[in-house]
Amino acid sequence: MEIYDVVIVGAGPAGITAGIYAKRARLETVVIEKLGVGGQIVLSDSVENYPGFPEISGYDLMQKFEEQARAFDLEIEDGEVIAIRDEGEYKLVKTDDRDYKTRSVIIASGAKSSHLDVKGEEEFIGRGVSFCATCDGFFFRGKDILVVGGGNSAITEALFLSKIVNKVYVAHRRSELRAAKILQERAFADPKIEFVWNSVVEEITGKDAVEGVVLRDVVTEERSKLAVSGVFMYVGLVPNTEFIDAEKDGAGFILTDERLATSIPGVFAAGDCRTTQLRQVATAVGDGALAAVSAERYLG
Ligand SMILES: Cc1cc2nc3c(=O)[nH]c(=O)nc-3n(C[C@H](O)[C@H](O)[C@H](O)COP(=O)(O)OP(=O)(O)OC[C@H]3O[C@@H](n4cnc5c(N)ncnc54)[C@H](O)[C@@H]3O)c2cc1C
Repeated sequence: MEIYDVVIVGAGPAGITAGIYAKRARLETVVIEKLGVGGQIVLSDSVENYPGFPEISGYDLMQKFEEQARAFDLEIEDGEVIAIRDEGEYKLVKTDDRDYKTRSVIIASGAKSSHLDVKGEEEFIGRGVSFCATCDGFFFRGKDILVVGGGNSAITEALFLSKIVNKVYVAHRRSELRAAKILQERAFADPKIEFVWNSVVEEITGKDAVEGVVLRDVVTEERSKLAVSGVFMYVGLVPNTEFIDAEKDGAGFILTDERLATSIPGVFAAGDCRTTQLRQVATAVGDGALAAVSAERYLG
């Protein structure tokens, strides 16, 4: 079996950037991706904070990443990494259908949306509960919907949905947003967006599909019902890191040093899967570049 210099787990912005840097360093490289090239950003209809592209959809942006990577002959294979074992001389990266031997690994497996874990949530996924406005927004044309969350993703997606639906409620557990000020200004100026402050979703209700939610005011403890046909969740992230035994923080994000080395020699982590202060395309790209250079130096 061929021994790679570097196996990269995940073909989102961090993994593709790491791949470009690794190929330019002439490292034998393969990227393993379980879904499709692009990562989470393909869920976003409009990205306007990635320099060089004043406004572009997440899908189009990642097409360009892939094109650039393919021009350096970056190998991208389908597969889900289920374990990484240190075999001394090399590391064994195990996927659902084959093993890869490699001298170093870059984990760029990103994260996925947290669930609220409330009654009705799992039951109504695909029938009114959604984690992707770009994918599902169209089904709610002319209807009233609820966005849950107060960060950048929640407000970006609320603004996107307000162009399609009749009314967007935004329920946030605090009395102010965490989103960038420019997004807040736009949302407050949007007549179709109404905020429900200090409120959490306690239950999602309906018969065959979502018909409403039960909200609880965290200050007054009062409960109220809101009639909506869709609930879009943006309440945080869960890292995709269950397959690696490196040291992690309490939420499961991988701990790294300033070179992005993990607690396992020769294993590096980049992007949303690691403990970091900001999870964006720009930071994932920076991490991917640094992780590849660190892997190159590790290989000597
Ligand atoms: C709705 C939404 C809107 C956003 N809007 C913006 C924005 O406007 N601007 C911005 O800068 N950022 C935005 N972000 C954040 C941005 O998408 C992320 O910060 C970025 O995608 C992180 O890149 P990454 O490569 O670290 O991880 P990801 O994009 O999560 O990519 C990880 C990849 O790894 C794959 N993977 C996971 N586990 C495995 C495994 N075991 N085996 C193989 N493959 C695996 C996944 O399928 C995925 O393709 C948004 C995010 C969301 C959800």
